[in-house]
Order: sequence, then C-alpha cells, then structure tokens
Amino acid sequence: MKPVIKSVILMSGGLDSLAALGFVKEKYGIELALTFDYGQKAAIQEIEASKKICEFYNIKNKVIKLDWLKQITQTSLVSSEENIPVNHFGTAESAKSVWVPNRNGLFLNIAASFADSFGFDYIIFGANKDEGKTFSDNTEEFRNEISKVFEFSTLKHPKVIAPLINYSKNDIVKIAMDNNIPLELVWSCYREGNMHCGVCESCNHLKKALIANQGEKYINILFEK
Ligand SMILES: [Zn+2]
Repeated sequence: MKPVIKSVILMSGGLDSLAALGFVKEKYGIELALTFDYGQKAAIQEIEASKKICEFYNIKNKVIKLDWLKQITQTSLVSSEENIPVNHFGTAESAKSVWVPNRNGLFLNIAASFADSFGFDYIIFGANKDEGKTFSDNTEEFRNEISKVFEFSTLKHPKVIAPLINYSKNDIVKIAMDNNIPLELVWSCYREGNMHCGVCESCNHLKKALIANQGEKYINILFEK
C-alpha cells in the first residue's frame, strides 16, 4: 500500500492557485489552503473566492492576517497612495509597483510552520512560467532552494511543489478547462470590486488566456462590461 501523503496549498483565490489545487489535489492529498490578508486592496474578494474554491474542493481554508505587512510596504496592491498600473505592464517599474516584500518567501515559511505542526508532506503553490520571467520568487530555483531551507528550519522537511511552473497563463487556462476546474469562482483582479476590472495587469493576462482558449463565457461571468 502506498503511504498516505497530505499537503497544504497557498490560496489567493486567483487563477494559478485555483488551477494548482484542481490539478494536483488528489495526487498530493491537499487538505488545507492558507489565504493571506495583508491589507491588499482585493483582500475581501480574494478571501471570498478562496472560500468558495475550498468549499468546491471540500478542503479546509484558513485566513491568516498579516496586518504588519501592509505597514512596511508601499506596493500599489496595498497603498491608497499608489495606483495599480493599468495598460503599461511588463516593465521593471510596473513589476516593482506590485512587488510585496518577500511575499512568497514569507507565505511559504508560514505554510512550512503548518506543515511542521500538522505533518504536511508538501506545500503547493501556483508559481508559473510567465511570472517567473519577472519575479524571482516564481522560479524553479527559488522553489528548489526554499525546499532545502525547510530541511533545516523544520522537523517535517516539507517539499515545495509548483505544479504549474513550466506552464504559461494560456496553458494554465487550458489545464483548468480540460480538468473541469471551476474558473467562474476565481478572483484574479488586483483591485476590489464586484467584478474583475479588466484593465490591471492580472486581469489583462487572465482575459488574454481565456480568449486564447475560447473561454469567452468566463469573460462574461467575471469581467465588467
Ligand atoms: Zn483587474
């Protein structure tokens, strides 16, 4: 008999975490999703989307508040003084604008504490190929190195798995559609609101990937007209 494995996943409610969960839930025995509230503008929507996604997949969802993080960052995702970039993306400046200091490192370390306490073998997160080009904490090197750190900082030695790391946004939407992953539950927008704004960088990528995969029905459900 194969040993039972169990895992924890980082869950923002966005495309990548939703697809990662739907794609490998059974393989890695994902039981718990951690959602972080660090004062980001879309926190309410992300928490709501995460809750619905976890209900759909019948796993536990824990929201972790990191109030201090918003106090030490000027990222446009948090700051009322900084506007989230619209219609100019892919530049060093736009990347810096949405950078949250050590976000993935911090979230993975928190997940590692849960793994150490509750015996999770793996920590799953939705790093992907497109973001890896801009953000160093979305790369295979980072995933590998932080797994090594947990061999020292935990007793459980959880391994970090990024099942989408070789896939682009287009590929991820295709995987989601092929696996009947409920894309209508996603919240990927950087802004708050009733529907996706359609003009921030994250919306832009999701919209393009949906169009590339004939996913217009999801555009109608998710985006402002
Ligand atoms: Zn948006």
